[in-house]
Amino acid sequence: MGNRVYIFDTTLRDGEQSPGASLTIDEKLIVARQLERLGVDVIEAGFPISSEGDFKAVNMIAKEIKDSIVCGLSRALPKDIDVCWEAVKEAENPRIHTFIATSNIHMQKKLQKKPDEVIEKAVKAVKRAKRYCSDVEFSLEDATRTDYDFMCRVVRETIRAGATVINIPDTVGYAIPKEFANRIKYLFDNVAELDEVILSVHCHDDLGNAVSNSLIAVEMGARQVECCVNGIGERAGNAALEEVVMNLVTRKDYFGLEVGINTKEIYRTSRMVSELTGIEVQRNKAIVGKNAFAHESGIHQHGVISSKETYEIMKPEDIGWEGENLVIGKHSGRHAIKLILEKEGYRVSKEQLDMITKHVKALADKQKTIEKVDLLAIANDVIGRLSENQARMKLKEFNVVSGSGVTPTASVRLQIGDEEKIGSGIGVGPVDALSNAILSIIGSDITLEEYNLKSVTGGANALAKVTVKVRDREGNVVSATGVDEDIMKASASAIIEGLNKIFSYGKG
Ligand SMILES: [Zn+2]
Repeated sequence: MGNRVYIFDTTLRDGEQSPGASLTIDEKLIVARQLERLGVDVIEAGFPISSEGDFKAVNMIAKEIKDSIVCGLSRALPKDIDVCWEAVKEAENPRIHTFIATSNIHMQKKLQKKPDEVIEKAVKAVKRAKRYCSDVEFSLEDATRTDYDFMCRVVRETIRAGATVINIPDTVGYAIPKEFANRIKYLFDNVAELDEVILSVHCHDDLGNAVSNSLIAVEMGARQVECCVNGIGERAGNAALEEVVMNLVTRKDYFGLEVGINTKEIYRTSRMVSELTGIEVQRNKAIVGKNAFAHESGIHQHGVISSKETYEIMKPEDIGWEGENLVIGKHSGRHAIKLILEKEGYRVSKEQLDMITKHVKALADKQKTIEKVDLLAIANDVIGRLSENQARMKLKEFNVVSGSGVTPTASVRLQIGDEEKIGSGIGVGPVDALSNAILSIIGSDITLEEYNLKSVTGGANALAKVTVKVRDREGNVVSATGVDEDIMKASASAIIEGLNKIFSYGKG
C-alpha cells in the first residue's frame, strides 16, 4: 500500500443527516465547491434515491466539481444503483458507493436474510454498479459488530465482483481503538485480495472514539478515511475531518503519511459548514473551536511570547485562521464585496450579490464599519434563502408591542400565494408573541423547535443572527436563519424562511 491517505468527505450525506442540518441545493453546491478547494479526494454528495432534492443536488455537484471524485450512496438494490449512476454519471470522476449490513443483529432483525443471501445481494450490487462505473465502493454496514470470518468472506467476494474500495464502518460508534486495530489487521492477514484495493474506514463518535479509531486504522493500513467537517453527522457525529487531517499533518514524524488537503482552507470550510447548517462549533473543539489557539493562562502566554513552539504545536495560519479583521466601509462597492466573498469560497449569482450589497450598504449607513463576519453572515443568509419563486410565503408587515406591565402582543400580515392573511398572538415575550402570530396563520401542523439569537460581532448595534429550527407533522426538521440589525425583523424573517423551507422540503 502507498503512503497517501485519501480523505473522503461525507458532510453532504452523513453530515446532512444530523437532525436539523438540512441544506438547500444551492447551499450544498457552495459547500461542495469549498470542499474541492480544501482538496478532499472524494465528495459524497448525497443519497440520490432518497428524495428528488437529493438527486438534484448530487447531479449538480457531479456536473460542476472537477478535482474531487463525486460519489453517491445507494443500498444494494438494483433501482438504487441505477438512480445513483444517473445522478453521478456526468462527473469527471464518478463513484458509486453501495452497502449492505453484515452484522448478525442487522441481518436478522433488519434485513431478515441469511448470511449467504446477504453475500449474494452484495455481489450482485457490486457487479451492477461495475457495469456503469469503474470506481465502486462497497461498505459492510455495522462491520464492527460483524463476525470476523464472515466479514472476510464478504470483503473477498465483493473485491472479486469488482469493488475498488472496501469500507469498514463503525456504524453505531461501538468500537474501541485497539479492538478496531485488531479487526483491520485480521482483514489484511486473511484477505490477500485487499492488496489490490483501498481499505476505508468510517467511524461514528457515539463513544467519542471516531477520530482515534480512524487514525489507528490508518496505522494498520487503511488508506481512506471517511469524515465530516466539524465532526457533524448522525447522532454524536462522524470523525471530524479537520482532526483526522491535522493529526496526520502535525504528526507526520509519527505517521509518515501524505494527505492532499490544503490545510489553509480548513478554518474557512469549518465556518461555512457551521453557518449553513446552523450547527455551532463548540468553543473548545479541537482545531477549529474559538479557543483552540487562545493561550490565556499567564504561564502559557509568557511561553508563547518568548517562543511560539513552547506551547503551540500548530500555528493558527496552518488552518487559515487570520483573526477577524475590519474590511468593509460605507463606500465599499459590489466589486470589493465580490472579491472578499470569492476569497472566502463563495461564488454568488448576480441576483445574490445585489441582495448582499444592498444589505451591506444599509447596515453601513447605521454603523461605521462592517467586519468580515458580518458580511459572511449576510451572505450565508442570502444564499440560504429559497429563490423568489420557491418561497410561498412573504412577510408584508408586522407589529410587536411589549414593555413592562404589558402582555407582549404581535400582529402580522403575510402573503401566501395570491392571498393575504392576517394573524395575531400573545406570548411570554415579544419573540414568542411574534412567532405565535405567524403560526396562528399556518395552523398546528408546524412547530417552532428551536430559537437561537446571536450577535454577529458584539456591541449594542451589532447584527443579530437568528437561527430557528422548524418541525412539521412528519418529523422533518429544517433550519433557517435571519440576519438583521433589528432582532424582531431577524426573528420574523428566520421563521418565515423556515416555514418556506419546510413546505418545499423533499420537493426539490
Ligand atoms: Zn455514517
